[in-house]
Amino acid sequence: MIAHKKIPMEHDKKIALVAHDNKKRDLVEWAKYNLVLLSHHQVFATGTTGKILEQELGLDIVTFKSGPLGGDQQIGAMIVENKIDFLIFFWDPLEPQPHDPDVKALLRMAVVWNIPIACNRSSADFMISSPLMDGEYDRLVPDYENYIARKLDLDEEDD
Ligand code: PGA
Repeated sequence: MIAHKKIPMEHDKKIALVAHDNKKRDLVEWAKYNLVLLSHHQVFATGTTGKILEQELGLDIVTFKSGPLGGDQQIGAMIVENKIDFLIFFWDPLEPQPHDPDVKALLRMAVVWNIPIACNRSSADFMISSPLMDGEYDRLVPDYENYIARKLDLDEEDD
């Protein structure tokens, strides 16, 4: 059985918001609707998403590079370092993106570190209104020590 570590999530959460261009309007509307719920959390975003949210909502946002320029990877790295608790990522299912590998990598990191992710508006609504948002929550993350300590067969193969 895989052991787990508990990572506490505090009452005020660090939420990353990302939207592809065709989904930015959706995210702005969602954030406007949920402004009160969002306001006591710390919000992070990729470059263009963050700029639009700041303009439209007056939210104080920590912005990274634009997604295609590395912003998704910056958020992924923050998840690895336990500096992001929560990801709302409205990705576009109908358009190929120049940074598709980064999109996949970001979603993968969210799963590896077991942070909640919402990829569409209804999931985001359910998540932001969950009673768990207003309390402390222990996130269970698989203990990767066994993986790190795995034995590797480095012997050279005989010809
Ligand atoms: P953007 O990036 O907010 O800079 O547009 C979003 C993304 O495509 O990941």
